Amino acid sequence: MKVKIARSAGFCMGVRRAMEIVLAEVHKDNTKGLYTLGPLIHNSQVLELLESKGVKVLNDLKEAAASKVVIRAHGIPPGLRAELRKIQARIVDATCPKVARVQAIIRYYTRKGYTGIIVGDADHPEVVALKGYGDDKVWVISDESQVSRLPIDHQNVFVVAQTTQNAKSYEQIVKKIKERSPRALVFDTICEATHLRQEEVRALARQVDAIVVVGGYHSGNTRRLVEIARSTGKPAFHVETPGDLDAKALEKMDVVGVTAGASTPNWLIKDVVAELEKIKGKKETHLGRIINKIVKSLVLSNVAAASAAASMSYSVGHFLHKPSSIYPLITFLYIYAMHVLNRFLDRTASAYNEPERASFLMRHGRALAFMGALSILGAIGLSLKLGLRTFIALLVLSLLGLIYSVPLIPKGLRLGTRYRKIKDVPGSKTLSEALAWTALIIAIPLLNGRLQGATDLIVIGSCVLVLAFVRAAIFDIFQLQGDLIAGSETLPILLGEKRTLFLLKALLFVVGAGSLLAPAIGITTPMFCLAAVPAATTATCVLVYERAWAMPGISFEALVETNFILLGALVAIWVHL
Ligand code: SF4
Repeated sequence: MKVKIARSAGFCMGVRRAMEIVLAEVHKDNTKGLYTLGPLIHNSQVLELLESKGVKVLNDLKEAAASKVVIRAHGIPPGLRAELRKIQARIVDATCPKVARVQAIIRYYTRKGYTGIIVGDADHPEVVALKGYGDDKVWVISDESQVSRLPIDHQNVFVVAQTTQNAKSYEQIVKKIKERSPRALVFDTICEATHLRQEEVRALARQVDAIVVVGGYHSGNTRRLVEIARSTGKPAFHVETPGDLDAKALEKMDVVGVTAGASTPNWLIKDVVAELEKIKGKKETHLGRIINKIVKSLVLSNVAAASAAASMSYSVGHFLHKPSSIYPLITFLYIYAMHVLNRFLDRTASAYNEPERASFLMRHGRALAFMGALSILGAIGLSLKLGLRTFIALLVLSLLGLIYSVPLIPKGLRLGTRYRKIKDVPGSKTLSEALAWTALIIAIPLLNGRLQGATDLIVIGSCVLVLAFVRAAIFDIFQLQGDLIAGSETLPILLGEKRTLFLLKALLFVVGAGSLLAPAIGITTPMFCLAAVPAATTATCVLVYERAWAMPGISFEALVETNFILLGALVAIWVHL
């Protein structure tokens, strides 16, 4: 079945930020006494996950004495904040910046003597908190009929909306208020994330046969999405987990649209999408399903990643006029073995990042482990043919790869550090993967005296390092949520997603420009200009992700790996022309 995923599906900025703040606290190794004031988000799977990590929902304020208390995205009234301080709770503020802006508006104008009107649901935690910022000088209304009862005659008035308020009804209510108080100051405080998500469901409904909305059954914004989807006339299904999908009803569809509430994590969306893809669509051909299955197996078994590395090795051999089949083979075997092993040791993150990969690992764990062991032995065996230096280098590289995810400092040993594995060192995952690729593709052949020349070696070596780094960082971005949960400090977690994406685009631009310039000024072989192709196609992948034109998943991973396999194919065509 074809699945179209809404660009806005999943965590909004405020919820993502709140999750990141809580998880950062969890991984500080002091989870004892970490509370949230109310459920962090309306998603039972996420709440269960947080509970399993020692994060409790605060029921009684006294429980929080001298503990850490996280203020969720909705914020809290200043009075409650003062009470928390009184009992010496350590406040971790995860109030959404957009909500904090509304709080600031209310505080500023009520202090200046204005009367405030909040348009929203009086019982909603966000509104309860907002009201607290205006003492008794603010009124909460939810519809036009309440405007006439407001005591606002001869007063300076300002109006704000609950951030998730419906834009149309806010407009109508404001119109009524203006009739009574023409000089009222009106602030646009509606969060565009909610509005965009709702608009997108309407647009998506026009392109698909049915809509699946993923999210908690108690989540207000998810339920609103279901209502909107149904109002378009298309069948709409509200599911919390893949198990809730009605396969029989969905079999009648060909294309299904998927969206999700602001509190739905990516792994649940991916889980539902993977399950939907298993259902045979009305017009889906047998051949299409087989091709899809093959591509998935290649990615999930790590054959695609190993092929991408081997393709780079093959291309570099030709760029440096020393083509050889043994180096691409060693590269393939080594990368395959390391990927299998590290995915295995990193199962926690996989379960949250790539549920499909996690279940693949569960199903084929033994076979994969056997193949991985066989591959690393094969790579080391082959290196023996190239001499002692290469053999020792590959042995060292293999040991480094093997100990990467293994705790070097036992858990019981209290050394005051939470860095127990090489993997725990911030940013190490991205860099070590890039360095391993470069060592295999450039350094190992160099040891054997197969690559000579200085300038072209530096240019081509830098290109390999950067491309491998960008590839690793893209996957780290795809796996951001799961890595956060598992506590892995990858480059995107360290720098933030936006800055990492900017860095990747800049690096790809340098590689693209360099690979066109170097042959033009005679530093490298003319064939090296082909390296501009993976730079350009990978930059396109970055853009596609950034603009949310596609959601990370197995198909997207296959696309990224194809960029590198494509380079080898182009080099082969160039050589044989
Ligand atoms: S919906 Fe908007 S205002 Fe509310 S938490 Fe998300 S980003 Fe913040």
